Amino acid sequence: MLEGELPGCFERLRASVLDLDDGCRFRLAFSRDADGRVRIRGQVAARGHLECQRCLEPVAIALGGEVRLEVVWPGEDPARVAEGFEALELDAEASAEGEPAAPAPAEARVGGETLTIEKLVEDELLLSLPTVGLHDDEHCHRAPPTDVAAPEQTRRETNPFAALAALRESD
Ligand SMILES: [Zn+2]
Repeated sequence: MLEGELPGCFERLRASVLDLDDGCRFRLAFSRDADGRVRIRGQVAARGHLECQRCLEPVAIALGGEVRLEVVWPGEDPARVAEGFEALELDAEASAEGEPAAPAPAEARVGGETLTIEKLVEDELLLSLPTVGLHDDEHCHRAPPTDVAAPEQTRRETNPFAALAALRESD
């Protein structure tokens, strides 16, 4: 189990958000499972802000989530990863001047870059990033236009499935 806090100087992630709080927590377990597959499980979490698309004020966002990756070695079919896992495809080892590739590569590379914990964590955080920032209606500094909100309200009240959901919750 690898656990810790990264300072959070993620350049790619910072470019996509308004700001990012210092410190990103991660918890990752690397394992070779019974079927011989290398899997990475854990969690990553960070906090920051996006710009609200409606009022342009900052919206607090929580990034991260569960990590479930399965290492796919060069030449393997990424479609074969176990259900519930994402493929982490490693680059083929570049062999220098026709020499056979080193039997045990010193470093794993993904997309032409050395795979590090920071890159892995940043990739996971980027995946969890909402496409747009938007406050809840009650927290937004600019209320939604009423002509849009009204029909929505009416629809919800007359939704026949609302009754079903209530029944299910009472089980
Ligand atoms: Zn807003």
